[in-house]
Amino acid sequence: MYIRKNIADFLEKMPKEMKMPKNWKTFVKKYDIEYNLLIKHGKECECTNCGKYFYSEQVEGKGCWDICPFCNNQYDVRRSNLKNYFFLYDLAIIDNVDNKLILRYFEVYRKYDYKTRRFKDDIVEYARIVPELDIEIVNDRFIKYLSFERVYHTKKIKRWRIFTGMYGLGQYYKAIYLDNIYEKTKGTIYQYAPIKEAIEYLDNKKVDLLKLLEKAKYPSFELLMKAGLYKLALNCPEKFNQKGSFEKRFGLPKEYYKFMKKHDVSEKELCVLKLIKRKNINIINKLLKISNENIEDLEKVSRIINLIKLKDYSKKQQGFSVQNYLDYIRNLEKLNVPLTNKILLPENFTEAHDISIEKVEIVNNKLINKKIKQRYKQLSKNIYSDNTFFIRPAKNLKDMEDESKQQINCVYKNYSEDYAYGNTDIYFLRNINKPEKSLVTVEVNKNKIRQKYQKKNTKITKEQDIFLKIWEKNIIQKVA
Ligand SMILES: [Zn+2]
Repeated sequence: MYIRKNIADFLEKMPKEMKMPKNWKTFVKKYDIEYNLLIKHGKECECTNCGKYFYSEQVEGKGCWDICPFCNNQYDVRRSNLKNYFFLYDLAIIDNVDNKLILRYFEVYRKYDYKTRRFKDDIVEYARIVPELDIEIVNDRFIKYLSFERVYHTKKIKRWRIFTGMYGLGQYYKAIYLDNIYEKTKGTIYQYAPIKEAIEYLDNKKVDLLKLLEKAKYPSFELLMKAGLYKLALNCPEKFNQKGSFEKRFGLPKEYYKFMKKHDVSEKELCVLKLIKRKNINIINKLLKISNENIEDLEKVSRIINLIKLKDYSKKQQGFSVQNYLDYIRNLEKLNVPLTNKILLPENFTEAHDISIEKVEIVNNKLINKKIKQRYKQLSKNIYSDNTFFIRPAKNLKDMEDESKQQINCVYKNYSEDYAYGNTDIYFLRNINKPEKSLVTVEVNKNKIRQKYQKKNTKITKEQDIFLKIWEKNIIQKVA
């Protein structure tokens, strides 16, 4: 309720129409320049920007452009009988109402006048944003239906209303008017934040002002901007709010400041700098590149090997990445291989990496094989036979593999590990007279047959089914 009243009060104080700043016309003119055409009569082109004539071989049409040799701008070439043509674009102004900063949106409707062969602007205000109150306000000119937005230049402002669209208003403006920004931010919570410098740093090109203001709220924003660490100021000032010495704030001694400023370091570049403590931007970027900009992985790997050594090493290794390298190290650790220099930097990384995978697989398989043998012993009590069939647990890894080959199923690949670790039980049903030949692969889970298949996962015979039912009832479930 409080906020509602807050907003209502603000809307009451806000004037329907507000003054335009002093240099507004000059400002618009600057952005108008790119919205022009070359009007072609015969082979002669007239530039709607500078009014000069020149010869052009270019054909007329959308996407067919030429460069005016007088103003040096590139424009589309159109036929001289062109009647209706217009451009639309947005500009913004920062203003102040009741000591709150507001962002005013304007649409420039730039229409071609075929009599004078020049463009004329019609500019209207259609929206205002008040970041502090987190509201967007629109007037009678603004229409939105689903994703369709339009500004009617013919309508007068009768009233402003809160915009409640699902995704909010798009920030389409090309640029923000900055000439009077100090005057306008005076008295607002952004009074001391160097917003103008930040917008100019971003070239005043489609700047996301709301995001910028969000960052400008942190006390460190001002400090970082003034220190010339623009990237840190604009992207993550919240990470440098720690008061006290330079080292406390940045995690590096003050002697690194000159370097940080010179390269306007990003957050990630700063992280790498902290890791290697070397003032060399090329090394930093190379390390970011080989780690896919993953700082956590770089930290991990730095505990194992000097990063600069690794960077030099990576130069000679094809397909090297920090992630692949960490896989390699993890394999070595599994194999209990001591991490000597030679092991850490093998001559051919890809080869060493692949061998380590194979070795781990062998070690894994040895362990699995050992466990399956134990499981066979445990489950031997469930061995059962009648005059035709017998059933027994899988004996070892080789036994599993053999069954898979004969039956053309996935029992070896997909069930060996689960069987080894006791998550499921695997049995083979076979004919008494042909004990080596696979017949039915059976999976038992929680004392119940879960799967039973002949070769290529086909259904089992009636006799086999009767045998299995007796086995399940009298052996499996009785023992349990
Ligand atoms: Zn021109």
